[in-house]
Amino acid sequence: MHSHVAGDLYQLGACVPGENGHEAVRVYVLENAGQPVLIDCGSHLHRPEFMAGLEALLKGVPPAYVFLTHSELPHVGNLQRVAQRWPAVQVIVSNVMLPYIEIPPVLPLSQVTAVRPGTVLDVGGRKLIFLTALLRDQPGSQWIYDTLTRALFTGDAFGYYHAAGECEAFSDQLPQDISTARFLRYHQNAFRFLRWTQPARLNADLARLFHARPIDIICPTHGNALRTNISAHLHNVQSALSSARTALQSIGQPA
Ligand SMILES: [Zn+2]
Repeated sequence: MHSHVAGDLYQLGACVPGENGHEAVRVYVLENAGQPVLIDCGSHLHRPEFMAGLEALLKGVPPAYVFLTHSELPHVGNLQRVAQRWPAVQVIVSNVMLPYIEIPPVLPLSQVTAVRPGTVLDVGGRKLIFLTALLRDQPGSQWIYDTLTRALFTGDAFGYYHAAGECEAFSDQLPQDISTARFLRYHQNAFRFLRWTQPARLNADLARLFHARPIDIICPTHGNALRTNISAHLHNVQSALSSARTALQSIGQPA
């Protein structure tokens, strides 16, 4: 199944229960005036329902592009299946991601285009901008900004665990914003290096990125889309990053 996020933006995928709660594995789709764009391809764990949901959403229109935030399995697990089903699909990766071995065995290199951060792609009358992912667990990860829906696709960043019963809930359908503590739980698992970061610099970079363009929606892979209170959610992630350094250092040090 799919959920409507805003404009021509939809959310697909499912979630995985774990010790911290449910972890979403989302794929976002822009219908894009007959040239659909997928942001990531989802986990192979959800392949049957993902493919069925995608077919139902696209209604016979082949996807034109898959943009990959990075090449970890939860993000590319259905890439081969999508490429088999729609053989003309073009896959856009970052220029640093291309050498990683996960992509070339899956589909011919002629179908893979590598872009540099800052690249603006004009597709179906909208501009999509590729940005260096400020929070990443693989070199060459990218975030993608859509000028039409003003959505920022953030890969692993801005993820959060959710409770059973909140599996399909967007931020505005929850009783409160995603808290600093919730963002912290996810981010300290997803980004183990946070203990070595300079949170002030990282948070300044995040602030700059959010100031540089209007952002109405944040689309994390491992959470449902955040459609409201963007500045509050940014603030809570920044607070989580600040406290992650302290929290993780205290774990790793002798008493
Ligand atoms: Zn769930």
